Amino acid sequence: MPSYRIELADRLTHQFRVTMTLKAPANEQGLSLPVWIPGSYLVREFARHLSGIEARQGPRSVRLEQTDKARWLAHCAGNTPLQVSYRVYAFDTSVRAAFLDDERAFFNGTSLCLRAEGHEAAPHRIELAGLPRDWQVATAMAPVPGRTRVYEAADYDEAVDHPFEMGAFWRGAFEARGVPHEFVVAGAHAPFDGERLLADAQRICEAQIALWHGRGAKARLPFERYVFALNTVEEGRGGLEHRASTALLAPRRGLPRSGMGTLSEPYVDLLGLISHEYFHAWNVKRMRPSDFTRYDYTRENNTRLLWFFEGFTSYYDDLMLLRCGAIDAPRYLALLAKTINGVLATPGRFVQSLAQASFDAWIKFYRPDENTPNATVSYYAKGALVGLALDLQLREADASLDALMRTLWKATNGGPLDEAQILQAVEAAAGSALARDLSQWVHGTQDPPLQQLLQGAGVSVQTEATGLAAGLGLRLSEGPISGVQVKSVLADSPAARAGINVGDEVLAVDGWRIRRIDEALQWSTRDRPLELLLVRDQRLRTLTVVPDPRSPLRQQWRLGLDERASAAALKRRRAWLGR
Ligand SMILES: [Zn+2]
Repeated sequence: MPSYRIELADRLTHQFRVTMTLKAPANEQGLSLPVWIPGSYLVREFARHLSGIEARQGPRSVRLEQTDKARWLAHCAGNTPLQVSYRVYAFDTSVRAAFLDDERAFFNGTSLCLRAEGHEAAPHRIELAGLPRDWQVATAMAPVPGRTRVYEAADYDEAVDHPFEMGAFWRGAFEARGVPHEFVVAGAHAPFDGERLLADAQRICEAQIALWHGRGAKARLPFERYVFALNTVEEGRGGLEHRASTALLAPRRGLPRSGMGTLSEPYVDLLGLISHEYFHAWNVKRMRPSDFTRYDYTRENNTRLLWFFEGFTSYYDDLMLLRCGAIDAPRYLALLAKTINGVLATPGRFVQSLAQASFDAWIKFYRPDENTPNATVSYYAKGALVGLALDLQLREADASLDALMRTLWKATNGGPLDEAQILQAVEAAAGSALARDLSQWVHGTQDPPLQQLLQGAGVSVQTEATGLAAGLGLRLSEGPISGVQVKSVLADSPAARAGINVGDEVLAVDGWRIRRIDEALQWSTRDRPLELLLVRDQRLRTLTVVPDPRSPLRQQWRLGLDERASAAALKRRRAWLGR
């Protein structure tokens, strides 16, 4: 059984020391570190932080031959245990790698644990060492009875799917459907309303359990314990799903305050993140693309299905906040409108299909640049809208996406899923025409008919004007100190036609110094040509931008409850939104 002693060797210089022991190594024992972490589709080359690797068998030093960027061959002799030790530099505050300083330690096994080739199916142990006395540990990996800070997983996949959070953090617990859930919060700088956080998280969990397993008390959840590990920071947002836990990153201002009346926007965002990652315990960690039946840790693992596993999860994350009562219907519709408006302001949706966006996540979504909005579409945002369109279409046929998800869960037994199975289930629920529509939305580049579907579900769709910069096709960073920097120029927009470049710094409009482009509305209108004074490569230039009143970028959607909708539409809305 491979075992790893993970020592917090030097917190001030962010160094873990790992000693791996393999009882019965092969003569030529392959050892390799993953290049990516499941759930985050980018080759991250974790081995770049590994150094000082050496190996021994008893007193004998073992020759290590490096065979590629992340793999070593240990030339062993005889059947005595192999010990491999190395350091890992850990100063990555994201949820995807490892971190160590004097206040906190965090790691994913993919950053620290070499994979012993040929031994992947054996149980794996992790032993923690060198923790300060007042530190605690949060992980969903099972502790070994009778041992302190020793944990065991059934195989390598499981060992690297339980992140560890360590420190003097806040800790709370609740039960959902009788299953213990733990919530830890690191980095909080002031007292926050922990009871509120636990109560809201519990409501979200119960609503999702009801979705997947019905309301009967007998349902067996796919995990025996679940851990939310939230690290709070000044700025940042992220989450990574695991089979029985999630690592979350959110701003401190998102924590609930005692006596908070209406929920703050950052707190609703945090609840949405909690909801999203918990949903993944079913959708992607268990029911998952058949391409992920076995992870290959040495290279990209492509799938065309992230629109389903990330997009539909995104559709459900906010919907679950409504369904569990954390937010009301108008607030839900505002969140939905935000997603819709984001997609409508992405010309790349006419260039790249959702299936392509999924496949290319590794080189496009996870490596965004200034051209991203023109060349790609988010399988999260547009995938969520396809989930919405499918749900509303299913509801017109007296079915629902909830029922479809349960059908798929049962059909796959919580295992691999491919596109044909999804289309077959849609056809069985609502006929072949809808299955064809879904295939079009996923493989084509047309927008799903959302306006008509929303109106058919008792939701009014109104348009309102976007800001001046958005209407011109500019994505900017703006501020009183930084001034106006162009981050993206949207394709086929007035800004593109005027020749504005990414990186241009806009100093003035019509001869007036500005700190935000929309300040120009004080003396101009949305329809009049604007003279821009800008800096490009240290030289001043003047460009004229001619607004286009017919540009779709000039308008965005606002959604509301339509009380004058037909009785059938209102009935569908009650089934969908609960009012
Ligand atoms: Zn996700």
